Amino acid sequence: MSDATSNPIPEPTAGVDGDLAARAAQLDAEDGLGKLRERFTLPDGVVYLDGNSLGALPAAVPDAMSDVVRRQWGELLIRSWDESDWWTAPERIGDRIAPLVGAAPGQIAVGDSTSVNLFKALVGAARLAAPGRTRMLVDATTFPTDGYIAASAARMTGLEIVPVDPSGAAERMTADTAVVLLNHVDYRTGRLHDLPALTRAAHAAGALVVWDLCHSAGALPVGLDAHGVDLAVGCTYKYLNGGPGAPAYLYVAARHQDGFDSPLPGWNSHAEPFAMTPEYEPARGAARARVGTPDILSMLALESALGVWEGVDVADVRAKSLALTDFFLECVAAYVPAGKVEAVTPAGHAERGSQVSLRCGNAREVMAELIARGVVGDFRAPDVLRFGFTPLYVGFADAERAARTLGHIFG
Ligand SMILES: *Cc1c(COP(=O)(O)O)cnc(C)c1O
Repeated sequence: MSDATSNPIPEPTAGVDGDLAARAAQLDAEDGLGKLRERFTLPDGVVYLDGNSLGALPAAVPDAMSDVVRRQWGELLIRSWDESDWWTAPERIGDRIAPLVGAAPGQIAVGDSTSVNLFKALVGAARLAAPGRTRMLVDATTFPTDGYIAASAARMTGLEIVPVDPSGAAERMTADTAVVLLNHVDYRTGRLHDLPALTRAAHAAGALVVWDLCHSAGALPVGLDAHGVDLAVGCTYKYLNGGPGAPAYLYVAARHQDGFDSPLPGWNSHAEPFAMTPEYEPARGAARARVGTPDILSMLALESALGVWEGVDVADVRAKSLALTDFFLECVAAYVPAGKVEAVTPAGHAERGSQVSLRCGNAREVMAELIARGVVGDFRAPDVLRFGFTPLYVGFADAERAARTLGHIFG
């Protein structure tokens, strides 16, 4: 990583160390979202800062799943496709996610993995693009699966892949550009990219843009409709707490739905699935993004998990996320000896997602030691410690303890 993407942790301010635990207690007492932690089941004594990899278990999910398995499956059996509304779950749950990403209803279908939805989105976008355009611009810093899928989608649609750094992506968008794929937040550094400006730039060049929201949905406002995004994908097991392997989602803006030509037109996306006709006729609306039989158990765990957002404003989540990451960086500066770690997450709020990434020597061993001491973050090769801040269930005392523990490891 270049120097431009890093900022050294500032020197501790004199006298601050002794105050940090008290400050954390005060901040937690004033935190309007603090009581939401009760909506989750978390092990005692653990500071969980890995909700950007696997969100915590919402407390309502085990009973909801027991009902789904014992009654809906066990007793109602096949009738549940209608009587328990299994059939319409992908669109219904899509509409539950919609307000979290700033989308009006009817544009999101839940199902399949992020990787599969990316494939649908990229091929669909290439088929929607103006004819004669030859290039697909792909975020060079992306989570690897996005790059692998993009390469295949480009090969299938006859486009040439052009890797771009998101910070310089706007200048690379030209009259040749068909599709642009970008991550809203960089999974490794936690850098937040400028979705409104990059979307405007893509449109000014006549291209379509596909956003990957894996590290932003549920952590900060996205504004898909407001900013005119064309297509977007995201997972639900990170900040949306849907559980391991929970299905992902695909957003196709309403204005593109009639032209969206899915490369995976399964029977669930048919206008009349139960007509069982040999000819394919695509459904209208969000259902066109479906493929085959939905993964109902995971999907209904997700639906129950989304209950934690009841009455929660994403703007408040964002405000707390920034306060938490600011406070964590301040505590790290106070507790960790100078020069031991370096923040790769931007200091500026406009460029920060909901995680703090610290670069250090022996990062793999340092993270293993943190986990052994009850502070769970994760390690990303080659040298990054990641700490995800999920404002629904992480508090300021957690941030302080995590930084203090890190300080002890280096002390
Ligand atoms: C987590 C993540 C994925 C995960 O893809 P799956 O197909 O759900 O395994 C993809 N892209 C990004 C940017 C991610 O952060």
